[in-house]
Amino acid sequence: MAVPSLLKLTVAPNPRLDDEVNEIRLHTADIVSDHIIPNEETLGLPADDPKRQQFVTEIKAFVKEAGLWAPHLPKEYGGMGVGFIAHAYMNEILAWSPYSNSLFGVVAPNSGNQTLLLKLGTEEQKKQWLEPLIAGEMQSCFSMTEPDNAGSDPRSIQTRAVKDGDHWVINGRKWFTSNAVNADFAIVMCRTEEDDGRGSVNEKMTQIIVPTDTPGFEIERSVPVWGHTGGHHCEIVYRDVRVPLANALGRQGTGHAAAQERLGDGRIFHCMNCVGQMWRAFDLMVKRATERQVHGGLLEDKQFIQGFIADSYIDIQASRLMTIRTAEIMEQGGDARTDISAIKVFVPNALARVVDRAIQVHGAMGVSGDTPLAGMFLGARTLRLADGPDEVHRILIAKNVLRAYHSGHAWDFGV
Ligand SMILES: Cc1cc2nc3c(=O)[nH]c(=O)nc-3n(C[C@H](O)[C@H](O)[C@H](O)COP(=O)(O)OP(=O)(O)OC[C@H]3O[C@@H](n4cnc5c(N)ncnc54)[C@H](O)[C@@H]3O)c2cc1C
Repeated sequence: MAVPSLLKLTVAPNPRLDDEVNEIRLHTADIVSDHIIPNEETLGLPADDPKRQQFVTEIKAFVKEAGLWAPHLPKEYGGMGVGFIAHAYMNEILAWSPYSNSLFGVVAPNSGNQTLLLKLGTEEQKKQWLEPLIAGEMQSCFSMTEPDNAGSDPRSIQTRAVKDGDHWVINGRKWFTSNAVNADFAIVMCRTEEDDGRGSVNEKMTQIIVPTDTPGFEIERSVPVWGHTGGHHCEIVYRDVRVPLANALGRQGTGHAAAQERLGDGRIFHCMNCVGQMWRAFDLMVKRATERQVHGGLLEDKQFIQGFIADSYIDIQASRLMTIRTAEIMEQGGDARTDISAIKVFVPNALARVVDRAIQVHGAMGVSGDTPLAGMFLGARTLRLADGPDEVHRILIAKNVLRAYHSGHAWDFGV
C-alpha cells in the first residue's frame, strides 16, 4: 500500500535536548513542513513574480511573529538570541527545503558577515555596516579566494593592503566572491605585513571593509558555476582601492585567525544543513519507492532499492551523530579540530551518496527541476571543495592523530 501523500516531515521532542531546543525544532518543523514545502513551486518562480513576492512577504512576517527570525543574531539586533547548539539543530530542519534559510533571515554571505561584524566590529562599523545589513538596506560579500593562489591555503593570499597616511591602499585580484554584484560592501582578506616582515604568516592578514563604489573596485565577470551565473561568484580586480584605516575589521594581523573561527562554527552549521537535506532526500526516495510501479511490482519490493534505503539510513545516522558529537565538544569548550575536519569530509560525501540514490530511484524526474534533488546534488559536490577541500581536512586529521602518538598518547575515541 502506498504511503499517504499527505504524510509530512515532522519531528518529535527529543528527551536528550532541553525544552528550548525542542520547542525551536518542533516549531520550525511545523512551518517548513506545513507552509514552505507545499509552496516550493511558488518559491521557485522568478524573484520578481508578484505571487512569489506576496508569499515571501507573508511567510517572513509569520516567521518573525513565531520568534524564529535570524537564529544567528542576538536579540538586540532583532534575532533569536539562541546558543550555538539550538542554532545547529534548527539548521537541520531548515534544510528540508532549499528555500527556508532566507525565509528565516539567514542569507549567505550576509549572515556570515553579520556574525563577523558583531564579533569584531567597532561601534562605528556596526552603525555604518551591520545595522543596514540586518535591516536589509545593504548587501555584502566576502572576498578571500584568488585565482592565482591556492584558496585551500589562505596564507598564500597576495592581495596587499599598504598604509598611505590614514588610508589603506589595496591591490590584487579575487574570484568566487559570491553576491559581489549586489553588494554595497566587501570584507576583503588582505596581506598587511609590516615592512620588516614581523610575525608569522598567520599574523600577516587583515580583513578590510571596502565599499563597492570605491574607485578601483572593478568586477570583471560573474564566474559561471555549474553553467549558471545566478550566485554572482565574481572575479574582481582591486586597483589602488583607497579606504580609511578605520575600515580594518579587528586588529591588524588577525584576519586569518578570524576567518578560521568563522569557518569552525560554519562547518557545524553546514553539516547539520547537509543532514537536513539528506533527511528530505531520504523522505522523497522512500515515498517514491512506495508508489512507483516497475516491472510488475513496486520499487520498494526490489532488493536493490531496499539496499538504497538501508545504506542511506546508515549514512544519515552516522553523519548526524558525528556532527552532533562535534557540536557538543565545541559547546563544552573542547578541542574539536580533528572532529570538525572529520565531519567536513564525511558528511558532504554522505549527502552526495544519499541524494545520488534518491535521484536514481526517481529516474528522469530525479534530474529535473520538479524535485529539489538536482540542486542538492550539485551543492553536495561543491561542498567537497569549498570550506576546505576533502584532502586538506584528511591531512589535518592524520596530522593531529600522529602528533598525539608522537607525544606518547594513543588516540582516545571515547571522549
Ligand atoms: C560556489 C562557490 C562559492 C564560493 N564563494 C566564495 C566566497 O564568497 N568568497 C571566497 O573568498 N571564496 C569563495 N569560494 C572559494 C572557495 O572557498 C575555494 O574554492 C576553496 O577554498 C578552494 O580553493 P581553490 O579553489 O583555490 O582550490 P585550490 O586551493 O587550488 O585547491 C585545488 C585542489 O587541490 C587539492 N589540494 C589542496 N591542497 C592539497 C594538499 N595539501 N594535498 C593534496 N591535495 C590538495 C584539493 O583537491 C583541492 O580541491 C567559493 C567557491 C565556490 C565553488
